[in-house]
Amino acid sequence: MKRILVTGGSGFLGSRLCEVLLERGDEVICLDNFYTGTKRNIFHLLDNHRFELVRHDVTFPYYSEVDEIYNLACPASPVHYQRDPVQTVKTCVHGAINMLGLAKRIKAKILQSSTSEVYGDPNVHPQVEEYWGNVNPIGMRSCYDEGKRCAETLFFCYHMQCSLRVKIVRIFNTYGPNMHPNDGRVVSNFILQALQNKDITIFGDGSQTRSFCYRDDLVDAMVKMMDTPDSVTGPVNLGNPGEFTILQLAKLVIELTGSKSKIVQRPLPADDPKQRQPDITRARELLNWQPSTPLKEGLVKTIAYFEQLLKDDPEFCREG
Ligand code: NAD
Ligand code: UDP
Repeated sequence: MKRILVTGGSGFLGSRLCEVLLERGDEVICLDNFYTGTKRNIFHLLDNHRFELVRHDVTFPYYSEVDEIYNLACPASPVHYQRDPVQTVKTCVHGAINMLGLAKRIKAKILQSSTSEVYGDPNVHPQVEEYWGNVNPIGMRSCYDEGKRCAETLFFCYHMQCSLRVKIVRIFNTYGPNMHPNDGRVVSNFILQALQNKDITIFGDGSQTRSFCYRDDLVDAMVKMMDTPDSVTGPVNLGNPGEFTILQLAKLVIELTGSKSKIVQRPLPADDPKQRQPDITRARELLNWQPSTPLKEGLVKTIAYFEQLLKDDPEFCREG
């Protein structure tokens, strides 16, 4: 049994990670300031004697004795990370410094949840880990993109300077149950719009592409990455290489929900990447992993989750 700290543990991915680690028999400290996470995601874990919930902001130092740290704390959707860009940079950078400092002091292994956004609007397709990216340092997305890039730098500085055991995963668009209904991400937006027969809002002409990975596949890979030998630092791309246009996604969601929604166009946000697809050769080789959930199957599960949420707590789905 290990003691594991999960920062951002009440968020979409963090809550699933806490579940998986508890199922494996570990002790889990879930640390979160509830900026975008919700107690609803981890409520069912509160009775587990191996689970502990700590309200804390990673931009302030935190101390605990643990064997491993998964650093997930950070708003992940454009709507949320652009709401307070200064706090987003602080969370990425000060949060990383605080967690790396802790890992160094207690000799813990630490994994950073980085992002495909480090590639920006990529000129290389599909994206390989060797690609350095095409990122605007002063745009709408910069607080997140550059914050995450700096966090990667910090992880490697601590690794090179202090021999810290670090792991970096670059996560591509992931979806599934426990996504926040109002975080504005494309999958949750389209599903909620479709279930309520509201217009489906495509930004731009819908020709931009994304590759969507189901939550459980992704979390499985994160745990596998943490369990690799110390020589494996990454970065390793994690995602589902199946690439779809946003228009294709909208049509699929309408088909699967049997919705009467119409597709409407809205302006494309600045610096919105035109295409994104992970090359997961490294993950396949190092982790013996590849996603097993096709988009249709994952969407069916996610639609069922939001259908239930709309029934149980329509107010929560309306908050914005
Ligand atoms: P999320 O917003 O659901 O979860 C983030 C969690 O971090 C929330 O619970 C939030 O309250 C918490 N948090 C934010 N700032 C904090 C702070 N200063 N101190 C403590 N807690 C804080 O997002 P998610 O999709 O679960 O993303 C988790 C991680 O994965 C993030 O680091 C994100 O950058 C990364 N990621 C996610 C995706 C994706 O598609 N979901 C893609 C790339 C990277
Ligand atoms: N998008 C869209 N309609 C929406 C929300 C998002 O067309 O209601 C588009 C968005 O412009 C982007 C893609 O879907 O091209 C994915 O957006 P998301 O915010 O989910 O993730 P990211 O842009 O960070 O990959």
